[in-house]
Amino acid sequence: MTDYPTLHLLIDGEQISGDGRKTEDVINPATEDVLGTLPHATADDLDRALEAAERGFKEWRTTSADKRCAILTKAANLLRERASDLGTILTMEQGKTLAEGRGEFMYSANLLEFYAQEAKRTYGRTLVRPEGSRVEVQYHPVGPVAGFAPWNFPAINVMRKIGGALAAGCSTIVKPSEETPASGIAVVQALLDSGVPGGVVQCVFGVPSDVSEHLLGSPIIRKLTFTGSTPVGKHLAKLAAEDLKITTMELGGHGPVLIFNDTDIDKALDTMAPGAYRNAGQVCVSPTRFLIEEDVFGKFRDGFVERVGKMQVGNGLEKGTDMGPMANSRGRENVGKLIAQAQDAGGALLSGGERIGNQGFFHQPTVLAEVPTDADIMNEEPFGPVAILNPMAGEQAMIEEANRLPYGLAAYAWTNDPARRRRLAAEVEAGMLAINGGSVSTVDAPFGGVKWSGYGSEDGPEGVRACMVPKTVHEG
Ligand code: NAD
Repeated sequence: MTDYPTLHLLIDGEQISGDGRKTEDVINPATEDVLGTLPHATADDLDRALEAAERGFKEWRTTSADKRCAILTKAANLLRERASDLGTILTMEQGKTLAEGRGEFMYSANLLEFYAQEAKRTYGRTLVRPEGSRVEVQYHPVGPVAGFAPWNFPAINVMRKIGGALAAGCSTIVKPSEETPASGIAVVQALLDSGVPGGVVQCVFGVPSDVSEHLLGSPIIRKLTFTGSTPVGKHLAKLAAEDLKITTMELGGHGPVLIFNDTDIDKALDTMAPGAYRNAGQVCVSPTRFLIEEDVFGKFRDGFVERVGKMQVGNGLEKGTDMGPMANSRGRENVGKLIAQAQDAGGALLSGGERIGNQGFFHQPTVLAEVPTDADIMNEEPFGPVAILNPMAGEQAMIEEANRLPYGLAAYAWTNDPARRRRLAAEVEAGMLAINGGSVSTVDAPFGGVKWSGYGSEDGPEGVRACMVPKTVHEG
């Protein structure tokens, strides 16, 4: 059995803990046992990290792209070798199933490998004028990047914060969530073990608002990248604006799923019903509002409830578990309140609705139906194991409901009509749209949202370009 590791900060390549630093406990969400004790960075630690990041940037930006590519590729391979043990650690601290935990490290390795290759493709362009002058458009790394990552995907989110930045030639300071620190430390350690200099990738923890104010208050940091809730994103964007730092914001969503009567309903159910409960629904691109054409509503609803009834909820480390606990008690309380309010507002509870047991943050996979649009859960991201099934009167009404909220992260549609697919691609307000599929994430295409779901891309060549700034050189 893999042991939960000792926790520390990683500053300038050094593992730091103790010396009277404040600490906090890390809790296993399946058992509520204390897994470990996490040190907080002091103000001096953060200053040291900033100074190292400034130095690290000078070194890394002038390291050849080939060498950067080789180092990052080595780290991707190390993560793959370690994925089994690290996936277990991720499940211990976050709760998701072992398959999801290990899969998350494999996906993080694939993303890093893609970014490693992209390090060699940060092309500019040359404009040659007929009269002999030329204009060169160059792309340069923006500078040291501060990244703040949440607890729902403790490995991928950290990789998204640092992978593109490292490929671009930036140095980084990342603050993973204090609730799931070991996975983020492991990602950073694999990079250090592969030859990334200590000042180029660093990992700190503390009170989130204190750490972000300290790092964003420094002129050394030139870019902020944040994944988390929309209110915190707006707050951090304002802090970054004080110093005109560029930003990438990957914020909340409220995924609409448009089910049309011309689709293969069983295939849609087999994909989307498990998808709604992946990671206990704590996914920014979670399918949440199912908007179903009236004439197939009954069939879809019954098939959905049947599939949810077969799901096994338990400790993510145990074989046969389909869904683990929620990651923390406040998430479970929040989802419980939203489910109760939806019923008060006139929605029907078709399955689940309750917490499970007195130990661990377990909640039943829940299905609500015919929930009015003014219910809180139709407007706030539930970020928990709940799906809402509502009958809808045709395409236009479905698109209007999909676009009604200020969020626009992921949307899903199931239809076999090619002309309708084109209309949906044009009209649905979302950063990512999956048609006849359940995934909106691939390493070589941008991941991100519109409206209150944020701006700026991660993944794909866009994830590297988001960490670079143009410089135009005019030669007479
Ligand atoms: P939260 O908004 O307080 O925290 C979200 C993340 O942001 C955490 O990792 C936290 O450490 C970090 N954070 C909070 N304040 C910060 C600050 N001032 N500076 C830097 N980092 C800061 O809330 P929560 O209780 O963890 O989650 C609540 C809601 O946040 C969820 O219901 C969901 O809507 C949203 N959320 C979204 C994502 C996502 O992937 N987009 C991930 C986690 C949470």
